[in-house]
Amino acid sequence: MKNKIAVAILLTVALAVTGCGSGGSDATENTTASQEGINSDLKSANESSQEVFAMDTYMTVTAYGKNAKKAVDASIEEIKRLDALLSTGDEDSEIAKLNVNKSATLSEDGGYLVQRGIELSTMTDGAFDIAIYPVMQEWGFPTKDFKVPDDATLKELLKLADVSKIDYDNKSREISFEDAGMEIDLGGIAKGYTSSRIMDIFKEYDVDSGLVNLGGNVQTYRTKTDGSKWRVAVQSPEDESQYIGVVDVSDKAVITSGGYERYFEQDGKIYHHIIDPATGYPAESGLKSVTIVSDDGTLADGLSTSLFIMGKDKACEFWKAHSDEFDFVLLTDDDSMYISEGIADDYSSDYEYEVINAK
Ligand code: ADP
Ligand code: MG
Repeated sequence: MKNKIAVAILLTVALAVTGCGSGGSDATENTTASQEGINSDLKSANESSQEVFAMDTYMTVTAYGKNAKKAVDASIEEIKRLDALLSTGDEDSEIAKLNVNKSATLSEDGGYLVQRGIELSTMTDGAFDIAIYPVMQEWGFPTKDFKVPDDATLKELLKLADVSKIDYDNKSREISFEDAGMEIDLGGIAKGYTSSRIMDIFKEYDVDSGLVNLGGNVQTYRTKTDGSKWRVAVQSPEDESQYIGVVDVSDKAVITSGGYERYFEQDGKIYHHIIDPATGYPAESGLKSVTIVSDDGTLADGLSTSLFIMGKDKACEFWKAHSDEFDFVLLTDDDSMYISEGIADDYSSDYEYEVINAK
């Protein structure tokens, strides 16, 4: 991506990918022109699509087939249910209550996500950390009342960001914190889990084909109705109406993390929402964005956050140890692009990129 092609590939198309657009707090049904651009050939009589605002982002669910409408309705209900269950900002949610009481018996979904969060922490050597929430709060990300904390405060709060101090019993789903200051946040995996759950619903309703876009996090069900793969654009960090490449997939999640998604600016410096648990500061790893392609939406979401923190070299090493579980597209601060071998045949871009091989 050294030669910036400014014209780029303007996305009329991004709709299927960036998930922006009009929308309100309620789901609005849109059965007509919901999929323009890349997937435009897909408009068919049996298409159903709805948009909803949840988890602080616009989400679109689209399905094709006899039961498409029912499947989309059920998916929207599932999104609302999971949002109400997991949101740290909603004082009635299971996670918010846990953060106040410091112990709880979790629901199946909550328990599953805590367990996955703890696993991801081990897998990524602490880059992924569901216990980072006290630090997130000090930065003001949850309330949007932003401030740059002082070093001493961060150092103290980082002691609480320790997943090994979460006592969780997988059978009873009982959880408690060893330190009363601790709080958790499942925001790094909640959307990926939600898109995975929608795939289960699509399967249950036996839809022919489907796609969810949860604020730029995409997961696809089967292929497009014509049998060809879904074309999922990887958004440009600079301009969400443009993309840096397109990955062709079926039955996969394509999930991107980047510092450009949520941030604030103070004294000319940008502070974003992905915190490096090693420092307590927004990760400065030399990456602009990380896109993960995987069968497993929860894993893809957790790893997009984690590899963003690791930086390019560590991310490539990590991938080599887990190349059967996921693939990636990395974009560095100096606009070099790297993709992993597993998606080489399914990736296209107008920019230069290097393929990283497992061996
Ligand atoms: P987004 O939710 O904006 O798509 P990510 O998937 O990268 O972006 O998740 C970022 C969210 O994850 C943050 O808003 C915060 O809730 C949480 N988070 C931030 N840093 C970490 C971390 N090191 N480990 C786990 N979760 C994190
Ligand atoms: Mg994530």
